[in-house]
Amino acid sequence: PKDKILAFVTRQGSSNSHTAILARIMGIPSLVKTQINLDDAVDGHQMIVDGFDGRYYIDPDEEVVRLMQEKKHTADEHQRQLEAYRGKESVTRGGQKVKLFANIGNPSDVEHVLKGDAEGVGLLRSEFLYLGRDSYPTEDELYNAYRKVVEGLQGRRVVIRTLDIGADKQADYFQLDKEENPALGLRGIRICIRRPEVFRTQMRAIYRASALGPVSVMFPMIASVWEVRKVKEMCQAIRDEMAKEGIPMGEVEHGIMIETPAAALVSEQLAAEVDFFSVGTNDLTQYTLAVDRQNPSLDGFYDPYHPALLRLLRLVAENAHKAGIWCGICGELGGDLTMTETFLDMGYDELSVSPTRVLELRKKVCESEVSPK
Ligand code: PEP
Ligand code: MG
Repeated sequence: PKDKILAFVTRQGSSNSHTAILARIMGIPSLVKTQINLDDAVDGHQMIVDGFDGRYYIDPDEEVVRLMQEKKHTADEHQRQLEAYRGKESVTRGGQKVKLFANIGNPSDVEHVLKGDAEGVGLLRSEFLYLGRDSYPTEDELYNAYRKVVEGLQGRRVVIRTLDIGADKQADYFQLDKEENPALGLRGIRICIRRPEVFRTQMRAIYRASALGPVSVMFPMIASVWEVRKVKEMCQAIRDEMAKEGIPMGEVEHGIMIETPAAALVSEQLAAEVDFFSVGTNDLTQYTLAVDRQNPSLDGFYDPYHPALLRLLRLVAENAHKAGIWCGICGELGGDLTMTETFLDMGYDELSVSPTRVLELRKKVCESEVSPK
C-alpha cells in the first residue's frame, strides 16, 4: 500500500535495480545497499531517511531534525518553483522540441504521470502485471489494466513494453528453468518467441486497448533483425485474427528497445523494420560494459557515461533519423540532467523518465540553447 509507505531502506540492491527504479517512479525516498542492522530497534522509533545524501537517522536528536526539516523545506520550495513549467512546451531556446514522457510500472502510476505533467508514457513496464501472482493474467485482466492507463492518460500516448520477464523479474508459474546467467538467459522477447500463447494473450489485450486512445507497443531485449521480423509476423497474425472476429483496434506504432550492443550496432537494419526506437540505457550499459546492473559491489564499474555507450547512443539516433523514424531514451540516463544537452545535440526526439523528474527536465530543456540540425 503505497500510501502507507513514506520511505524505505534496504541492505541489498543497487541504484539501477527495479526496486530503486519503481521507488523513483512513485517518488518514495529510498536507500539501497546500506549497512542497516536488521537487529536495530526501529519499530515504534522515529526515523529520518535522507534520499539526497543517502543517509538515515534512527531516533535523531533535535539538531538533526531541524537540519532535515530545513532540507525538506528547501526541496519543497524548489518543487514549487518548478511549477512554472507545468503545461509549458518542452522546447529549447534554439527551437528544438523534445517530448518528455514518463516511465511507469502499473496503472495506478498514471496519477504520478499527471501530477508530474508528463506528455505521455514512454515506457509501461508491463511485466509488473505478471509479478506477485500465482497464474498468468487473462486477456481481460490485461485489457482492463491497459484500459485504465489509456483512459487515465486522457489522450496522451502510452508506449506499452511487452513483458520483460526473466533476469531479476521472475514469476514461478512461468516455470522457467534455473539458469546460470539469467541476465543472459531466457528473458524479454526471447520468452515471447518461445511462448507464443503468452505473447498472443498480451498482444490481444494491447490491441483491444488501442481502440480507446493512442497506444504504441515496443519489444524488449532485441538483438537481431530476425527476432523483429518474427515478432512482426506474430503480431500481424494476431491482428488478422482479431479483425476477423470484428474486434475494434486502433492504429498501433510498433517499436523496439535498443538495449543490447548488437541492436545498437545493427540499428540501421532494424530501423527499416519498425516505427521507433527507445534506448534502454540500463541494460545497454550492463551489456556493453559486461557489468551486472544488480550487483551493488560493481557500482563504480557501472558507468553509463562510458564513451562506448555514448558512441552507441549517437549511432542509434543517426540511424533512426536516416530511416525517418523517431527515437527516444527510456533508461534512467534519460533523466540525468548532466546529459540533457548531449541527448538534444544527438537529436533524440523523446526522453522518458520518472514522472517526478519531468518538470526539472523541462526546465533544463527550456534553458538550453541547442537548435535543430
Ligand atoms: C533499460 O534497460 O534501460 C530499461 C528501460 O528497461 P528495464 O530497466 O526495465 O530493464
Ligand atoms: Mg531493460
